Amino acid sequence: MEQTTKKIVIAIDGFSSCGKSTFAKAIAARLGYIFIDTGAMYRAVTLYALEHGAIVDGKVAEDRVVALLPDVNISFRFNAERGASDAYVNGERVEDKIRSIEVSNMVSHVSSIAQVREKLVAMQQQMGRARGVVMDGRDIGTVVFPDAELKIFMTADAQVRAERRYAELKAKGDNVTMEEILENVISRDKADMTREISPLRQAEDAVVLDNSHMSVEEQMAWFMERYEGIVNA
Ligand code: C5P
Repeated sequence: MEQTTKKIVIAIDGFSSCGKSTFAKAIAARLGYIFIDTGAMYRAVTLYALEHGAIVDGKVAEDRVVALLPDVNISFRFNAERGASDAYVNGERVEDKIRSIEVSNMVSHVSSIAQVREKLVAMQQQMGRARGVVMDGRDIGTVVFPDAELKIFMTADAQVRAERRYAELKAKGDNVTMEEILENVISRDKADMTREISPLRQAEDAVVLDNSHMSVEEQMAWFMERYEGIVNA
């Protein structure tokens, strides 16, 4: 009889800009899994709030964000050119806008709002219900899929992370400085770790991957060893 490999949930959590999405995308392509970038969902809500007057002069009106929530319809569509899914809000492609420094500077505040988390966590659980998913974020192994078969907690030196994000934004033509990015990375880590609801923390059963000095290939080899150990157990 033909053996089918069991499909699992792979939860990748960790600090800002450690390459979680790049890593998750590569894993999904290798295994034929669905990749879900949950950070993109928090960013999409933040962009919508910025564009609809719920964030003015860097101040978030939480009640207004909550009032807007039923109008925010987030979806993903595969983009063959990029080999990844693009985020859409109410049918508009927002993939580039959600990565801007304006959104990055406000997203940790918006993601600390209880109703925002409730809505997005429910969506994420629905998207992964059939398993066979790689999901990256901050609370995947602790809150969204506490029963994930493989949990990875990613970290890297803050300076290395800022340099990577800087190169990425510069390549896209964004006019940002290294100082701005480093400050954003450090302040998001702090906000994400200290918020009241679902703070960023390592699940007890997560394995740590510090990729400060690892290539994508080395990370993949590290991953496959753990993955094989689980599906062949
Ligand atoms: O992963 P990314 O850096 O794009 O996430 C943007 C922000 O969204 C994080 O700094 C965090 O505030 C929030 N986030 C979250 N929970 C997740 C994913 C992201 O709170 N599961």
